[in-house]
Amino acid sequence: MKSNNGYIVISYLFAIIVFLIFKDAVLVAFLLLLLLTYHLYDIYQLKQSFLKEIADTEGNLKISIQKEKQKRLENYSQFLSLSQTLGSGLIVVNDLGIIDFVNKDVKSYFIEVDYENHEYKTFSLIKPLYKFINESYLLESPLRKQIMYNDKYYDLVNTPIFEGRFFKGCLIIVHDITAIKTAEKFQKQFTADVSHELKTPLSVLKGFSEILDRDINMDSKQRVEFIGMIKKEVNRMETIITDLLTISKMDRLDYELKLEKQDITTVINDTINLVKSFAVEKNLKISHNLESCMLNIDATKLSLAFINLIKNAINYTDEGVIKIKGMIKEKNYIVKITDTGIGIDNSEVENIFKRFYRIDSNRSRETGGSGLGLSITKNVILRHEGTISVDSVLNKGTTFIISLPIKK
Ligand code: ADP
Repeated sequence: MKSNNGYIVISYLFAIIVFLIFKDAVLVAFLLLLLLTYHLYDIYQLKQSFLKEIADTEGNLKISIQKEKQKRLENYSQFLSLSQTLGSGLIVVNDLGIIDFVNKDVKSYFIEVDYENHEYKTFSLIKPLYKFINESYLLESPLRKQIMYNDKYYDLVNTPIFEGRFFKGCLIIVHDITAIKTAEKFQKQFTADVSHELKTPLSVLKGFSEILDRDINMDSKQRVEFIGMIKKEVNRMETIITDLLTISKMDRLDYELKLEKQDITTVINDTINLVKSFAVEKNLKISHNLESCMLNIDATKLSLAFINLIKNAINYTDEGVIKIKGMIKEKNYIVKITDTGIGIDNSEVENIFKRFYRIDSNRSRETGGSGLGLSITKNVILRHEGTISVDSVLNKGTTFIISLPIKK
């Protein structure tokens, strides 16, 4: 441009000199016309290159906008798929208080709310959640709270979104912590139950030992009776502690069965031999009819389950016979342990597998039971991928039915 300008100035000076020397207006006019044409052509070229430059810039701009859009779209779809697989709820409220986004988990937690493009006030149906969102939105600061809604517990975490110093909304994560809370509650209840269970025999021990200590002239018959009671309570405490240790092992994440192919009849026969003396003591007969079958089992743990079931059959039966039957039924091995005892009311069948649950605490204590036997038994059977069920008629008797898978 600069060189062109210089060239134009020189050309005009040349035209003036020609006019001064030749005094020929026609020549000068011709020269000026030539110069003007050149000048216009130059301007035309300049405009063309300018337009091309604009077009190039526009093209580049379009491409980078397109790229940016693509990138944002990719980020958004990544965010969407991440939010759907998060396993937690996600709520995004923008700076205007409009719900920008909720993922499927939030929709499943709070089905009564209509979300799309609504103000966050729409959450007012769920009071504790609304209170949290409102507080998060108004305070524009991080917040964390646990709420309870419809018998479920949720942990809420708010992270405010800022662009520079400007508040752009809230990102709220909702975790369903019902399972953790239930486990916590269960653990607390269990600790309280254990303390209670151990406190009773301890008080008995303390009481009897104090009487024995105080009353040195006690007649020998009573002394033997008291010592017998102390022994009984000590045995009960031992049973409770042994069962507690078994349960605590089972609760460990790394608890595993030691599976081996074995004939199930060997395990059941060995178990019967172990508990036979208890039946003899009560004048009860044990009969068994077992079909031989190789199963992939942990014999020690399965034997524990059968001991509990046969001992219970003996403990809760005053007269009659305990029948143990084992047979192959399609792809399962079925064991039935039937007694002619006190029976279990239908309404209690669900409860008897709970830890420390006893229908009649006095009878259970009398027999030295820990109240943990059936919960251990069920755990062992379930770990073998089997099932356990009960069929009982009050005052007639009970049958426990165990089904174990036969795997080739
Ligand atoms: P426990 O040590 O009290 O026997 P369990 O967990 O083995 O504890 O059993 C839980 C409860 O289930 C018992 O207290 C008893 O009330 C009931 N129960 C278990 N087996 C039988 C049975 N064969 N007949 C009647 N009641 C039973």
